[in-house]
Amino acid sequence: MNSGSAIGLLLGGVLGLGLVFLFVGSIVWAFQDAEARGKSGCLVAILVALLSWPLGLVAWLIFRPDGPKKRENVRIALIPCQCGKRIPVEERMAGTRVTCPSCGTEVVVPELSRLRLILAEEGRLGHMA
Ligand SMILES: [Zn+2]
Repeated sequence: MNSGSAIGLLLGGVLGLGLVFLFVGSIVWAFQDAEARGKSGCLVAILVALLSWPLGLVAWLIFRPDGPKKRENVRIALIPCQCGKRIPVEERMAGTRVTCPSCGTEVVVPELSRLRLILAEEGRLGHMA
């Protein structure tokens, strides 16, 4: 055995070891990435591992959902205007003024507690319909 083949063996070993690390690392990364996105980390990790790596990893990179949803469920309450129309307002607009899109009158949005009551009422009506 000459020194050339020894180096080749060493290089192959390092390369193989590197690939194993890359493989394991990508699965761990996919797991954490999926968990951060509200998906089942185990499922994605298994998918990445089984779906002939690195194809599974590439598939996850393409099809993974956008990051954790920052946009929380915005609830719209309908407050009545003197013209008979109902103006849609968001919860965060409580206590402010809105201009009625129908007649242009400035309408004061009720305080949050009152707004929540309106929302609850609408929710009940929605369930009944
Ligand atoms: Zn109006």
